[in-house]
Amino acid sequence: MEDSLTNCRDRRSFFECLQNMIQNGTQGNKILAVLILDLDRFRRINNALSHRVGDLLLEQVAERLRGMLRKSDTCARIGDDEFALLMPTMNIGHTRLAASKIQSIMEPPFLLDGQRVTVKASIGIALFPQHGTDADRLMQYADGALSVAKRSGSRFVIYDEEEKDSAVPHFSLEAELRGAIGEGELTLYYQPKINVKSRQISGLEALVRWNNPKRGFMLPDEFIPVAEQTGLIQPLTLWVLNAALRQSVAFADKGADLTIAVNLSPRNLDNAELPALVLRAMDTWGAAPSRLILEITENAIMEDPAHSLEILHRFTDMGISISIDDFGTGYSSLAYLTKLPVDELKIDKSFVMNMVDEKDDAMIVHSVIELARNFGLNTVAEGVQNERAWEILAALGCNYAQGYYMSPPIPVERLNKWIVESPWGLDKGGAPQCRPQDSSTEAL
Ligand code: C2E
Ligand code: MG
Ligand code: MG
Repeated sequence: MEDSLTNCRDRRSFFECLQNMIQNGTQGNKILAVLILDLDRFRRINNALSHRVGDLLLEQVAERLRGMLRKSDTCARIGDDEFALLMPTMNIGHTRLAASKIQSIMEPPFLLDGQRVTVKASIGIALFPQHGTDADRLMQYADGALSVAKRSGSRFVIYDEEEKDSAVPHFSLEAELRGAIGEGELTLYYQPKINVKSRQISGLEALVRWNNPKRGFMLPDEFIPVAEQTGLIQPLTLWVLNAALRQSVAFADKGADLTIAVNLSPRNLDNAELPALVLRAMDTWGAAPSRLILEITENAIMEDPAHSLEILHRFTDMGISISIDDFGTGYSSLAYLTKLPVDELKIDKSFVMNMVDEKDDAMIVHSVIELARNFGLNTVAEGVQNERAWEILAALGCNYAQGYYMSPPIPVERLNKWIVESPWGLDKGGAPQCRPQDSSTEAL
């Protein structure tokens, strides 16, 4: 029996097929892998963009899955947004490879009724004969592994590994991070953003760091993914926002008119309360919205364009600026982005860092600056590491630059010194000196 929407097998037919293969052998292969795949955020897409778009998505997911299957594999739709696959393989390495491949074919955005939508898939895997010889049990185990994958944020989990590999270290980092937010272990570093024309600092980007008592100093790439997968990104973002606003008000009080940029995670956009929380934080510290910039990556916006548009408008209505981070690494078109209430594009550092040697990268940087100018947007180049890159950007008319050439991200004590001593700092007369302000935002 087939599922009429996707032309895949249905649950019952999948189950029969699994029972059959268990009884009749695995076609010369050693392992029979049962994979259950679930689309994250499907319900939201379905509700936000209509059930028709939801159906289109399921059809296209089925098509991509069929495109990668071998003759010996079986695909079924076994629930609303759940697919199951049966894959005879030679060893567990092949199964892992197949799971990674499924993840990667799901990565390019789906074009649904003219809208680009990105979805992620979580996968749970159980293996015959290692985990059992009973079809029912194998399905249950794959389902259990899927729950662990979703909970821990791992892209796929094999039933056996549930206890040891992926889940446990993750959970302990999660527990540590939960504590760290309240315990004052997080701190902000600030990277100066320089106005290319005036060659003077115009703002700061707040970048979070974690002084982990057990693991040492940690960079965001090591813990932001865990925060995103566990929901801790919401309190973490609020902590960063409050600490950054407090610091920016301290600078303003000393006469330094600097913008402050805070990074938002794609998961922050899921929180409909976010604009209200940002407003409350600005009220608490008496911060001017015109000094706050929220950085959002291109891919975060494209995950759910209609919803992003609504949230972004709420921010800009409050007088806050929006910057698109890591621009150039996503799949969106600049023409689409210009329809959003966006003020600035941050050209991804991968292009800027290579543009001195690589013609193609230089061309991309040039084109983005040119197009952004035509659409009335400012450009910021990230990853400016040497004088040559600075000169090229100045000649191209890039508005702002950030990078190790001017300064890496630094704690506020060093920033105070940098502002006074650096040629890119503020006019010496009014150089502000601020106490570090990171540590006491517990109230929020
Ligand atoms: P991002 O927002 O694109 O930040 C720029 C990253 O590039 C920073 O890495 C910065 O240290 C690095 N960078 C700046 N100039 C140069 C350069 O000249 N050369 C090189 N090689 N790198 C340069 P960092 O601080 O490790 O942050 C990495 C990413 O973590 C950030 O990328 C941002 O996406 C995320 N992140 C940082 N803080 C937060 C936060 O508070 N909340 C959220 N949601 N994400 C954050
Ligand atoms: Mg950023
Ligand atoms: Mg960036």
